[in-house]
Amino acid sequence: MPLQKTRVIILHRFPYSDSSFIVKAFSADFGILSFLLKGGKRKESPFKGAFDPMAYSEVVFQSSGKSEFVFAREASLLEWFPALRENLEAQAVAQVMAELFLRYTPHGISLSKEFELLLNAFTELNQEPAPELLSRWLFDLCAHWGFSLNLSRCSRCNQPFVQGPAEFLPDSGECVCVSCFTHHESLFEEDFLSDLWRFSKNEPVGSPEQLEKTFLSYLRNHLGIKRNLNSVLWLDQIRKLKEKPCFPSAI
Ligand SMILES: [Zn+2]
Repeated sequence: MPLQKTRVIILHRFPYSDSSFIVKAFSADFGILSFLLKGGKRKESPFKGAFDPMAYSEVVFQSSGKSEFVFAREASLLEWFPALRENLEAQAVAQVMAELFLRYTPHGISLSKEFELLLNAFTELNQEPAPELLSRWLFDLCAHWGFSLNLSRCSRCNQPFVQGPAEFLPDSGECVCVSCFTHHESLFEEDFLSDLWRFSKNEPVGSPEQLEKTFLSYLRNHLGIKRNLNSVLWLDQIRKLKEKPCFPSAI
């Protein structure tokens, strides 16, 4: 089998035996790759941090033909995202993205756009992430995976909104304008509807977490995801801890 070279983002790593790791990596060229790193736990591992979870690296690898695993021949670390690793919430957001890719990456389509989407998000998480980062990422991912949400035009009359929508339709990911809306009351709070409106104009929103939940549940419906994502539960916990710190901030 010939050697191949690709850029990867490491999604997950777990021990395989006393001395080895299995590493799940996302590559723009090959989708999800499973690396078997023999002796990867040894301190003098030749790959340094290139296979650490969340690392961005370039690897040269070989497939064995029979096995599901590929074998790394060379690897160089391009970015380790040190500031992301020091920020618990940023780490948890990165985990949500990694878990979605690990479990639900579609097969048989080009993944270069998804790769850039993930790389850009990790790069932003390593700097000063905007509060809307995860909601925007989920919104963009829906579009890449073929079920765009439409927040800027009315689904009935197709006119662009000049004020916030009167209703959001969670199943189709569409909105309805005030003129076309025939019910008395929306299913959603006014604050949420105006957040959708601000989001569609790239403006800061009041509750990014509410948008995340909405986009995530829309994505889950379309992908047929039944059970909760562990990383989403973890992100919720981290945020609750942030609201109620266990320790006094000034000692
Ligand atoms: Zn309308």
